[in-house]
Amino acid sequence: NLKSGIVGLANVGKSTLFQSITKSSLGNPANFPYATIDPEEARVIVPDERFDWLCEHYKPKSIVPANLTVYDIAGLTRGASTGAGLGNSFLSHIRAVDAIFQVVRCFDDAEIIHVEGDVNPVRDLEIISDELRVKDIEFVEKALDALGKQTRRGGQSLEMKKLKEEEATVGKVLQFLKDGNDIRNGDWTPKEVEAINPLFLLTAKPCVYLVNLSEKDFIRKKNKYLPPLFDWIKKHSEGSPILPISACFEERLALMGDDAAAAEECKKLGTQSGLPKVITTMRTALNLGSFFTTGTDEVRQWTIRKGTKAPSAAGVIHGDFEKTFIQAIVYNYSVLKELGDEAAVKAAGKVMTKGKDYVVEDGDIMLIKAGA
Ligand code: GDP
Repeated sequence: NLKSGIVGLANVGKSTLFQSITKSSLGNPANFPYATIDPEEARVIVPDERFDWLCEHYKPKSIVPANLTVYDIAGLTRGASTGAGLGNSFLSHIRAVDAIFQVVRCFDDAEIIHVEGDVNPVRDLEIISDELRVKDIEFVEKALDALGKQTRRGGQSLEMKKLKEEEATVGKVLQFLKDGNDIRNGDWTPKEVEAINPLFLLTAKPCVYLVNLSEKDFIRKKNKYLPPLFDWIKKHSEGSPILPISACFEERLALMGDDAAAAEECKKLGTQSGLPKVITTMRTALNLGSFFTTGTDEVRQWTIRKGTKAPSAAGVIHGDFEKTFIQAIVYNYSVLKELGDEAAVKAAGKVMTKGKDYVVEDGDIMLIKAGA
């Protein structure tokens, strides 16, 4: 189960946002026992209209949506990488997540002090980005040191050749960081990625930027800080998604405690809750896709990395299935939706039988055949 952490300076709206996620219907699904696990960790539903359609279609006895774990990580401060504030413990929490939601304050409010004195989102982004990068440099230097000790022994063995290659890559990574870049923005070969992944670098994690606006700015989709913010992100973290959000507005909606009332309020204001998009965007940033298992007993959405082959996907359902996989009976949700029901899909000859090499497509509906 992949985890994402909410990161940002103090008083930017992280907890307000986290609380609204856990109090919303995404974090508090009526039919599910999980949701908030502890005060800093919540398991939230991944909203998906395909799943909703399948549930409506099969009216199964039980439904199991996909979920994502979200952590509220304590506020970062300038100097955290050298131990200021919660410093290192804070950074180790970031190390433990698979991706980062970075909350940036773009609301003015004289009552809510800004730790840096004034509201300046680009400066805030720079503080965080610098702290994470400094920490990565420290890690990579240690890793390089350790590799250097091993390669100094010299020799021509295959193992030594591999170590030397790894050392070269890690050296390249260090230079890249020192030049002021985040690892996620590099163009790495698959071999380099192999050397980079075990380092668990903070700047390698996918990042979704959440721009916290006042309710008014969120609704009118305008805020004076947005243009420089977009420019900065484009320059320093090209391709990372940016989502405007209003933590206060989400909190207000969540506290209504009633989806219908919240929907009514949104309609009146001509807007929508930004939370579903926050979750689905993170899922995409993590390179995740879904397949479904369906029937009148249960409709369930399963999470896989994009590009996963059928046996590994089967292994997500049950560990043993990966080894004992025989075949998968597959058709895509889009075909079912278009043709109306399973019988029509069959009649149209769109049900496929796939073997071990099949790469599961997002939205596949699968029946796995596995045996001893
Ligand atoms: P954190 O330290 O980043 O977790 O920040 P909090 O979520 O605790 O928010 C700090 C304060 O800012 C709280 O009093 C929130 O109510 C307030 N706040 C959060 N978002 C907004 C916003 O969009 N507008 C205004 N005016 N206040 C906000």
